[in-house]
Amino acid sequence: MSSIFAKIIAREIPADIVYEDELVLAFRDIAPQAPVHILLIPKREIATANDTGPVDEAALGRLVRVAAKIAASEGIAEDGYRLIINCNEHGGQEVFHLHMHLLGGRHLGPMLARRQ
Ligand code: AMP
Repeated sequence: MSSIFAKIIAREIPADIVYEDELVLAFRDIAPQAPVHILLIPKREIATANDTGPVDEAALGRLVRVAAKIAASEGIAEDGYRLIINCNEHGGQEVFHLHMHLLGGRHLGPMLARRQ
């Protein structure tokens, strides 16, 4: 079954799209956790990082390069930002169409919450 992100690719539901090419799409997260919070997705439906194959290498490489370009256009490249791909339950993945979060615009703190 298609995820909500497939519907965004197909323009069946609205999104604030900031970039598109033949391999990837980028749009603003609907519930931003930082001043800049953009999701980058491959157009091919890949459920999780576990489901990637050789055919996906171009799109996965493109995600990082496009994220860096968007970071520059958003004015956060020099201060820095974070790229995150969550996978399955322990990674906290909620939408099962592989996506990379681009987060920035403030100091993001430690990468993971410290265990007590
Ligand atoms: P993850 O937990 O890595 O699967 O992240 C899923 C992300 O998708 C969350 O940050 C959500 O806020 C975001 N999200 C869910 N639905 C939409 C939508 N329709 N448009 C934009 N972002 C969405």
